[in-house]
Amino acid sequence: MTARVTIEMTGIFAPGFRVAPYWWDAAEPAEREGGLPAETPIAIVGGGYAGLSAALTLRRLGHDVTVLDADRIGWGASSRNGGMVSGGIKAASGELEKQMGKEQAKAVVGAAAASFPFIEELIAREGIDCDYVRCGRFVPAWTPGHYRALEHKVDSIAENTGLPAWMLPRARQREELGSDHYYGGLAADATGSLHPGKYARGLTEAAVRAGAALVQRVRVQGIDRSGSGFVLRTDKGQMRAGAVLVATNGYSRAPGGGGALPWLARRLVPVASYIIATEPLGRERVKKLFPNARMIADTKRVLNYFRPSPDGERVLWGGRASFAPVGTEAGKAAPVLHKAMTGVFPELRGVKITHAWTGNVAFTLDGLPHIGEQGGIHYAAGCQGSGVAMASWLGHQAGLKIAGAANAPFALDGRHFPTLPFYDGRPWFLPLVGEWLRLRDRIDRAAA
Ligand SMILES: Cc1cc2nc3c(=O)[nH]c(=O)nc-3n(C[C@H](O)[C@H](O)[C@H](O)COP(=O)(O)OP(=O)(O)OC[C@H]3O[C@@H](n4cnc5c(N)ncnc54)[C@H](O)[C@@H]3O)c2cc1C
Repeated sequence: MTARVTIEMTGIFAPGFRVAPYWWDAAEPAEREGGLPAETPIAIVGGGYAGLSAALTLRRLGHDVTVLDADRIGWGASSRNGGMVSGGIKAASGELEKQMGKEQAKAVVGAAAASFPFIEELIAREGIDCDYVRCGRFVPAWTPGHYRALEHKVDSIAENTGLPAWMLPRARQREELGSDHYYGGLAADATGSLHPGKYARGLTEAAVRAGAALVQRVRVQGIDRSGSGFVLRTDKGQMRAGAVLVATNGYSRAPGGGGALPWLARRLVPVASYIIATEPLGRERVKKLFPNARMIADTKRVLNYFRPSPDGERVLWGGRASFAPVGTEAGKAAPVLHKAMTGVFPELRGVKITHAWTGNVAFTLDGLPHIGEQGGIHYAAGCQGSGVAMASWLGHQAGLKIAGAANAPFALDGRHFPTLPFYDGRPWFLPLVGEWLRLRDRIDRAAA
């Protein structure tokens, strides 16, 4: 009701506006038949990119798997994200070197960068029709200081990805972005774009073709050791499994507390990310804003990320519109995103929104994605909001490990996985941290 009042007052919503992912118009996660089996050799909890990619890898290696999801398969972040495909990790190489030494840092950066060629190969090999294009990205600088920081990174980005990366000063910014809002930026070729709903659906179909069993609407409430295997307690009864992978990422803590693996939830900080889609604007108009159709994510601490829709007709605009507890009504966040969008593209002021939605990403306290084992239970999680390639890659690596088929060490496997004292997976501190980050963004800009 409150959301409806906001909608009518702001006048930014198109007739038929929906609080649902734009992606679901073309590829909403499907309903599927089938109940919980009594047992399975390998159970995978979470039917997102990580769980599905692990299932596909395990099936290709001849192992029987059952993927369970508390909602529909693909319902989580995997059918809601921005569809920006890049490898790499948020933590800077220099910081990693200080933490773990040069050699380990190099191994971690290399293990993460490998996610990009992996997903490109996976999409091509499985013939997944998901509008994938290697379009590259542009990272516009919020301040001159951010531009200088990007200059320090540009060579290592080119080196780690093996693809060109270059700086574009403010005077040439319009070659990449139809806006004067930023102070130049960094362009890099090692980024693609896809339709996340279609990718989730295609990965699901690939896993089914390979012989994976997928069971929807089963919430795992706990996992107990039993003999040489495990018993999964669910809201639909019990299931025995020889091995278990938990791939629940930003949804690891159940709404009322607990979850499949509370140990994992205590190491992940779920953060809601929000996106809006504009009404169709016409390709010419969108092309003026995104001349080379690159993916854009700016350097703000509370970042904006935006892109053209795959058909080139709309603008999709994302950000952390709210740091309130995850699951906040996306309709309420939409005016915040609309304002940010028109700050960068003032010509979109009269443009209306057709969709607004939210989903959870998972941050870790060390800024790294992780796979590993806890009490014999495997996990793969923590993509820091950049998980299209990474979650697919972590799932694949976890699958190889479970099958005993990994023929080289994986640097993101089995690393120390930090938590905070008394933290139970409920990020009560986010509103405070969020406001602090916003304030720092404002101060940086005022000083620019
Ligand atoms: C709005 C938004 C924008 C994003 N934009 C980008 C982007 O542009 N580029 C990028 O690289 N990344 C982006 N991401 C991040 C990316 O989507 C995720 O990192 C990735 O999809 C995570 O995949 P996953 O399989 O680990 O988790 P998810 O896809 O979230 O799947 C986890 C699944 O686990 C299920 N589950 C949880 N608990 C249980 C339980 N107890 N029992 C059974 N099932 C359970 C959930 O129902 C859910 O379906 C974005 C995320 C969001 C939300």
